[in-house]
Amino acid sequence: MAPSFSFDRLGFIGLGAMGKPMVTHLANKLPPASRIWVYDVVESVVDDLCAQFPNRVLKGTNARDVAQQVDTIISMVPEGSHVRSVYLDTEKGVCSTDISNKLIIDCSTIDTATSLAVKDHIAQHYPTASFYDAPVSGGVIGAIKGSIAIFLGCGEEDPNLERLTHLMGLMGKQIIPCGAPSLGLAAKLSNNYLSGIIAIACSEAFDMGMRSGLDPRTLAKVYAAGTAQNTICDKFCPVPHVYPDAPSSGGWKQGFKVQLMRKDFGLAVDMAKRVESRNVLGEVGLATYDGASNDPRCRDLDSRVVYRYLGGQEDWQTKLNGA
Ligand code: NAD
Repeated sequence: MAPSFSFDRLGFIGLGAMGKPMVTHLANKLPPASRIWVYDVVESVVDDLCAQFPNRVLKGTNARDVAQQVDTIISMVPEGSHVRSVYLDTEKGVCSTDISNKLIIDCSTIDTATSLAVKDHIAQHYPTASFYDAPVSGGVIGAIKGSIAIFLGCGEEDPNLERLTHLMGLMGKQIIPCGAPSLGLAAKLSNNYLSGIIAIACSEAFDMGMRSGLDPRTLAKVYAAGTAQNTICDKFCPVPHVYPDAPSSGGWKQGFKVQLMRKDFGLAVDMAKRVESRNVLGEVGLATYDGASNDPRCRDLDSRVVYRYLGGQEDWQTKLNGA
């Protein structure tokens, strides 16, 4: 029989585009006795969530306050500096109170060095507490649908794996233990490096084919049938109106912001340097996402807007119809 985990007192820090839908799943799916203390530097999002789930989701005044109320803490903030502040701030951080025996999970996509520094700090000061990196993939839509993948920084033999899998399974579909601390992040960064490079290659391949006279729908069929088949082409096609549900078909408004891809790509290139991995596409990919992030025609849009940044044709339907 599957073991039951209660998670009576849970904390969630960082209620942004990803954190809010993730905590909503927890509020809807945890047993009735569970209470969730939440905190974000933007007080209004905390108040909104507490109002949405009265007596279920409760307001924390800072990260330390949340830590004092709960047994398990999840964080989902943008960058390494925010993770440091959440955990290591000497007055309001999680580690400024006694967190012995607590289970702590950071889902933010950050550099492995910061994650390991927080883990080491916790191990040194609170040896019975457990800290895990657990970055996620699948975007805001995946977080809303509860279909994100979660990459755990631990091995199959970890004593908390079942507990972690149960909890993360309330917010996501695939929970993959990646082997050891910080390897969830290493896996996530190498995934986003690959996905970012594919989007650039895909944009360039479509563009050269279309400029040669091919209909992009034909090209999409060719790639899907041939050796170039990949998910970016199939479901996130950078060319608008080839795949109706792709972010490009809605003006790239929904999806994974190009600035986030720039951030993750930069972290991946840094990681590659640190581990001495030969990385010929890294610098050019980084320069491309850097440029797209700073381009007013692309900023704040889904990262596959790199197609527009590289000069791809967007009005191909009009041209094809001879209008
Ligand atoms: P976001 O900017 O929408 O939300 C982050 C939230 O953290 C904000 O509400 C912010 O106010 C809060 N915050 C910042 N510093 C804080 C602090 N010190 N204490 C408490 N709250 C703080 O970002 P997001 O899109 O939710 O992304 C969060 C993380 O998830 C990032 O590392 C991102 O790379 C990763 N991620 C994002 C996506 C995506 O599609 N958006 C997909 C996968 C992974």
